[in-house]
Amino acid sequence: MPELPEVETTRRGIRRALRGRRIAGFELRNHKLRWPVDRSLTKTLPGQRVVDVRRRAKYLLIELEQGTLIAHLGMSGSLRVMPADAPWLKHDHYEIRLDDGHGLRFNDPRRFGSLHWVTGDPLEHPLLKGLGPEPLARGFDGTYLAGRARSRKVAIKQFLMDQRVVVGVGNIYASEALFRAGINPRRAAGRVSRERLDRLAGGVRKVLGEAIRQGGTTLRDYVNADGTPGYFRQKLYVYERAGQPCRRCGTPIRKLAQGQRATYFCPACQT
Ligand SMILES: [Zn+2]
Repeated sequence: MPELPEVETTRRGIRRALRGRRIAGFELRNHKLRWPVDRSLTKTLPGQRVVDVRRRAKYLLIELEQGTLIAHLGMSGSLRVMPADAPWLKHDHYEIRLDDGHGLRFNDPRRFGSLHWVTGDPLEHPLLKGLGPEPLARGFDGTYLAGRARSRKVAIKQFLMDQRVVVGVGNIYASEALFRAGINPRRAAGRVSRERLDRLAGGVRKVLGEAIRQGGTTLRDYVNADGTPGYFRQKLYVYERAGQPCRRCGTPIRKLAQGQRATYFCPACQT
């Protein structure tokens, strides 16, 4: 599943290709994504210039002159810039054609991705309204987490993955950030000290920042990007390392289930 770093990597790649370009056409081969895509976009989009490409949580906001496209990659989607006449592959669902002969093609085998068009403030859209702060934005720190965690009994890992608390911290990054902060993932959120919440906020920023930098290495040839997610290149401390020695203390990494997700942690380093 594309996590926040992959979405941010995608944003940077497509922003470079799209910004300032005019849309020459929109081809919709399959409107049945997670929600039906509005077929009238084939008439609405052409002629408009791309003002900017931004991101909120894991949504890409393609800002045009008269509104904003809100695109989500779902579980298995990818958005890639390619020559507009490139052959359509199985699971290619739409293409935004640009005035320079390139197109932005969306491929998604599982069709959990989505595309919405809004003319008002995209941040007021029901999908985006109510989301917590961005983990890489100023203000995401131990003070903020402490305010939200006060007297909460939910496990700190589930708390960290709650999109109303903070967006974009998926399973891999929650596990890795908790390791860096030395916090047992089962500990009640309200019982984690302020000092450790500071370290946790720092850990989240660090693991996401590293992943984005790694993802950035595929940007150079983004037009031909193979879609390899950045986290495969990242050094993981606990994620999917059950039974292997902790890189810090040698204790075998443990795996447990939390809210139907696998959690990995070091029972010695994380208390
Ligand atoms: Zn350890």
